[in-house]
Amino acid sequence: MNKHLSADQAAMLYGNRFLTEDAPDGPFPEGGMSALDAMRLVDEELALEGDPNRNLATFVTTWMEPEAQRIIGENLYRNFIDHAEYPISAELEQRCIRMLADLYHAPGETTGCRTQGSSEAIMLGALSLKWKWKQRREAESKPIDKPNLVFGGDVHVVWDKFCRYFDVEPRIVPLQDGKYVIGPEDVEPHVDENTIGVAAVLGTTFTGHADDIVGINKLLVDLKGDKGLDVPLHIDGASGGFVWPFLYPDSEWDFRLEQVRSINVSGHKFGLVYPGIGWLIFREKSDLAEDLVFYENYLGKTDATFTLNFSTGASMVLAQYYNFVRYGREGYAYIMKAMQLNAEALASKLEANGNFELIGADQEQLPLVAFKLTGEQDYDEFDVSWQLSAERGWMLPAYTMPPNAEDVKVLRALVKQTLSREQIDRLADDIQTACETLEKKGGAHPSERKKMKASPGY
Ligand SMILES: *Cc1c(COP(=O)(O)O)cnc(C)c1O
Repeated sequence: MNKHLSADQAAMLYGNRFLTEDAPDGPFPEGGMSALDAMRLVDEELALEGDPNRNLATFVTTWMEPEAQRIIGENLYRNFIDHAEYPISAELEQRCIRMLADLYHAPGETTGCRTQGSSEAIMLGALSLKWKWKQRREAESKPIDKPNLVFGGDVHVVWDKFCRYFDVEPRIVPLQDGKYVIGPEDVEPHVDENTIGVAAVLGTTFTGHADDIVGINKLLVDLKGDKGLDVPLHIDGASGGFVWPFLYPDSEWDFRLEQVRSINVSGHKFGLVYPGIGWLIFREKSDLAEDLVFYENYLGKTDATFTLNFSTGASMVLAQYYNFVRYGREGYAYIMKAMQLNAEALASKLEANGNFELIGADQEQLPLVAFKLTGEQDYDEFDVSWQLSAERGWMLPAYTMPPNAEDVKVLRALVKQTLSREQIDRLADDIQTACETLEKKGGAHPSERKKMKASPGY
């Protein structure tokens, strides 16, 4: 080694000093490091994160085309909210909204917005339900202190969050063993004059099925006729909004149904864009409560905003528009069909395994396989999840169903664009091997068993 160099000089010359030092993780660092060292430190930190190719848990996009990645990379500086400076980005958002409104059969001109994901879209959509209800009540000089919202136990946690954050009583229809979606008979007893709306799910996170939206719509249409109660229906299409139009185009769940007033969808799930994009689409302009739109004079131009956040990147809006023009209906249908075929291939292999039963594989469903053990084993679904992860690194979530079906344990595999038939075969073989290992040792040892909570992963 060159004896003329001090330790600092050597570090400067040979780099990678961080390799023998703790990563800064508390006090704000006094000094910095070279750009190369900082980049390598972050890369090293991330090396042990989950591998997206073996992640069967997430609904969120983990792969996009290089051309889309280029658009994203080249536009990272663009602040979406700055409409004065970036009016074309705003126009591309409007194009996406018009295309989605068309896909969802909006009867005429409508409105909507890009959001950070379905969670923000649901907060905004539900706020609009609350404000429209207040308007209706005030017009009749009736009290507005007890709003409620009706939904099933099969919804995403964001609906409970909305109710707590914005002071609305949640009226939650419990699930039952073997019944993991809700229908009109479940909704009816909960609806009254204080109901701001009903939320129905298209593609639940738990089993990938849809609530009986046609039935719930009919109930609400009848209520309007019989009792004069006009209760709007919001569809949580976070996942299903980009699956049903392409796999089940004749199934009615959208604005073809009279009481469906708003729909949310996650662009970063089956919209096939990286995380950070969701959409809220109203049936008609009048379904957006005007009081929630802010008009401001910012950077010299009057602008209307309906959003919980302010500054955010434009890249994912551009990437969504890229996907719409790149794939069109035909391309999306082709990709969704491919996922569905592979999900069916996995499902039939799991049936052949003999240890499992499928959950609702004969119904309209997201491209996933939800399954459980037949119950004759000495091990449970959590053991299978643990063993498969230990042996092969697959992340296959196990979880319990929401109340009142908490005794039911489920395994769920998302089958996305990145899971080829070859991978499906390997996965099915690995599940088989995991079952054989568990059979030999009679379940996972308690010390091995990862304490997985009831979260199915999103
Ligand atoms: C994922 C999901 C959400 C939340 O969506 P984000 O885009 O992650 O904010 C809400 N509802 C359902 C049904 C979901 O699957």
